[in-house]
Formats: sequence, structure tokens, C-alpha cells
Amino acid sequence: MAIASINPSTGHVLRTFEPLADHAAEEKLELAWTTFHEWKKTPFSLRRQVLLNAAAILDSEKRIFGEIMTTEMGKTIGSAVAEAEKCALGCRYYAETGERHLAIEEIPTGASRSYVEYQPLGPVLAVMPWNFPFWQVFRFAAPTLMAGNVGLLKHASNVPQCALAIEDILHRAGAPKGAFQTLLIESGQVESILNDDRVRAATLTGSEPAGASVASHAGRRIKKTVLELGGSDPFIVMPSADLDAAISTAVKARTINNGQSCIAAKRFLIHDSVYDQFEARFTEGMKALKVGDPMDDSTQVGPLATEAILRELHDQVGRAVDSGARILTGGSPIARPGNYYPPTVLAGVPRSSPIFYEELFGPVAMLFRVRDHHEALDIANDSPFGLGSSVWTRDPAETDHFIQGIESGQVFVNSMTASDPRLPFGGVKHSGYGRELASFGIREFVNIKTVFIQ
Ligand code: NAP
Repeated sequence: MAIASINPSTGHVLRTFEPLADHAAEEKLELAWTTFHEWKKTPFSLRRQVLLNAAAILDSEKRIFGEIMTTEMGKTIGSAVAEAEKCALGCRYYAETGERHLAIEEIPTGASRSYVEYQPLGPVLAVMPWNFPFWQVFRFAAPTLMAGNVGLLKHASNVPQCALAIEDILHRAGAPKGAFQTLLIESGQVESILNDDRVRAATLTGSEPAGASVASHAGRRIKKTVLELGGSDPFIVMPSADLDAAISTAVKARTINNGQSCIAAKRFLIHDSVYDQFEARFTEGMKALKVGDPMDDSTQVGPLATEAILRELHDQVGRAVDSGARILTGGSPIARPGNYYPPTVLAGVPRSSPIFYEELFGPVAMLFRVRDHHEALDIANDSPFGLGSSVWTRDPAETDHFIQGIESGQVFVNSMTASDPRLPFGGVKHSGYGRELASFGIREFVNIKTVFIQ
């Protein structure tokens, strides 16, 4: 039962799938390879139309796709429907901008003409996580198809129905069958796909060990990779901040997607002069959230995606307490069927504790009191991760201090971190490398060909 849909709010097995046999995987690779040679010659106008059609399908059937997401991985139905809408936005973004991002760039030299041309690489393997089961895939698929590459999706084993639905959307939108294929395979089968010469590059969104494994196999075959890995984003609040906005955003930023987002705020670094107020009101806000059935429109926090995630999160909370942390609210699984964990606030996690350096992938916040902006920056950067960051201050000098000093792929000022198709997305340090979205994302998997004509 390795590839299975299990409803996280009940524990019921919805459907199981046999992993693809070697000969079936070979047929899909061959189809990807032959389709690539046709697809790369298609005009931008045709690729654009496929993405616009996909956007229209996503918009018109968003409730159906939302229900598939919610029943497979437990996100609230409202956020699942919004995710389908965001995928439509991503498709439209690349439909409208893709040709411009890949236009020939003239570069004057002594030659009669010299320029750069962007050409597709071939089949690209995408190894994707379950937490944003549609958005993670569409933010890969839209630029991939627009650039003239073809996509092979190895989705997380707990969201096979999302994976099949996405393949179906793109085929109904007019993409040839081989331009985008879902491979229902287990993680152990990824190495042989990466070793195949027809697969030219890979992108992985997920955990550090998975990223290291895929990148090392791809590296041995000299194939480019993009890695979008974990995060333990700081959320910094200074005395000049709008405290009401900071507190309500902090609650949302920690519990978005039931706390399972790479760019969720995870470490809250609060200036001494506003700490006590922040701690009391933030804890109140976390306690007040409605936890329950994710299909109920009024639910704010649903179950964690799998039982294993629940166990791991609770183990981390236990280790934090053993190392001296105090629980201000929450702290143990909710006694009901399904993988329910309450919004939890921890204060006083010592920096000497291993938990301080780990990612908490669920609705658990760690609060820290800081003396000034220097200490805030020091703690923010004391992490193996460097994905996003959120800074709350109205002081221009402090704003600059954080923008310049934070070791992260993105810094949001007086706002929570979020992805936007118009802005590049990615991290530094153990959060990975390469960028998705915007012009940077579509240029990751192209041959930047230099042309020099004397
Ligand atoms: P995961 O266990 O690493 O799984 C992600 C994907 O990698 C799944 O498809 C998984 O397949 C596959 N995989 C796991 N081990 C592999 C291996 N050794 N070789 C090849 N493939 C392997 O991560 P997750 O628990 O699903 O996702 C949570 C993590 O993703 C968190 O750390 C989160 O921060 C990160 N994330 C990052 C971003 C970002 O943009 N930076 C976005 C979302 C999530 P199976 O399911 O079959 O194991």
C-alpha cells in the first residue's frame, strides 16, 4: 500500500495504486522523448493556448479539484479551491509572459551579430511533495511546457489522485500525451529514471534527504537540478511595528495549510519591549482557531497529512519540552480519529537544543525574546535553512539592516511570505538552490545558447 490515498481526517483508505512496472515506465520515457522532438518545434502560440485552456479548466472545476486535495491531504476546502485558482493564475502568467522571457537577446560585440537564444533541454523529472499538491506541480509544469520541454511527474505517494487529475487537466487542455505524464512510482524507483539518458534534468520540492539523494544521482550523470527544500522561517517583530497586524498575520503565517508550508513562519523573534503583549495575544489567537473537518467551510485548521507527520511533530514538541521549553497552548494530539494536532505555542526553546535547528512541519510556533535588531538578525541566521523571512518594523534603518543581513531567498517586510508567479521563489543554504517562478524559473531548464556570427 505504498501509493495510497488515505483520508487524513478519518484514516480511511480511499484508493491504492500499484507502482508502475519497469516496462510501463520505459514506455512513458520513450513517449516523453519522442514527444519532446515534436513539442519543441511548436510555436509559442500553441503552447500558450494549452496553458490558457488549462487555466479555464482549473477555474471552472476548482471545487472538484479542491475536494480531491482536501480528501487526500487534509487542507481546508477553502484553501484547496484557492489553490486551484492560483494554479490557473500561474498558467495564465506563463501563457502571457513565457515568450517574452525566452526572447532572443542581442548582445553587441565586434561580430556582425551576437546574441543569446534559449532552447529547451528535453524531458524534465519533477519530484513533488504533497503539501500544495496542485500548486507545486503547476508552478513546474507551466514554465516547462511553455519553454518547449516535456514533464514527467513523480508526485508524493499520498496524493496519487491529485497527480492523475493534473495529468488529465493538461491533456484535456490540449497538451500531447507525452508532453506531461504522471509516473506512479515509489521513491526507490527515482534513481533509475534519473539514470536514463532521455531525462535531461530534475527538480525536487521536498525534504533535505530527498533533495540530497536526487541531486547526487543527477550529479553523477551531470544533469542540472533545482531544489526547493525545507525552511524554518523567522518572523521578526520590532517595537515600531503595527502590532495588531503583526499578531494576526503571525497566527495565519504559522497555521497556513495546517502548519505544513515550507514558507510558514516557524520562529518568532520578538523585541523585548513588545514581547509580553505579543506572547499573550498570539497565544490567544492560536488557541481560538477552529480545528476540525477540513470539508467544513468554517474550519481554520484541519488534520496533518499523515499519521507519521503527526507522530514526528509530537516527538519534536516532547524533545523541546525535555530541553526546557514551556508549552503555552496545545502540545498533544487531539483525541479523535484522524491526524489532528492543535495549534501549539512553545516559549523558551534553548538555542543549545537540536529542536531549535529543526523544521516543525505542523502548527507549532517557537517564540523568542530578543534585545534588539542585532540579536534578532543573529538568531534569524542561526539556522541551517534560508528560505523565506518576514520582518515587521516601520524604521527605515532597521528595514535595511534586515534586507541586507538576512540569509534567505526572500524577505517580506510588514507582510507574510507568499509565492507569487511574478516573483522568483527559492532558498539558500539547506533550503536549496535555483529558482522557480518569474523569468528565473522558466530559464532554469533551457540551454542558454550563445550565437556569434562574424
Ligand atoms: P519528502 O518526504 O522529501 O517528499 C517529497 C517528494 O520526494 C515525494 O514525492 C517523495 O516521494 C520523494 N522522495 C522522498 N525521498 C526520496 C528519495 N530518497 N529519492 C527520491 N525521491 C524521494 O517531503 P514531504 O514530507 O513530502 O514534504 C515536506 C517537505 O517539503 C518539507 O521539508 C517542506 O518544507 C518541503 N517543501 C519545500 C518547498 C519549497 O518550495 N522550498 C515547498 C513545499 C514543501 P514519496 O512520497 O514516495 O516518499
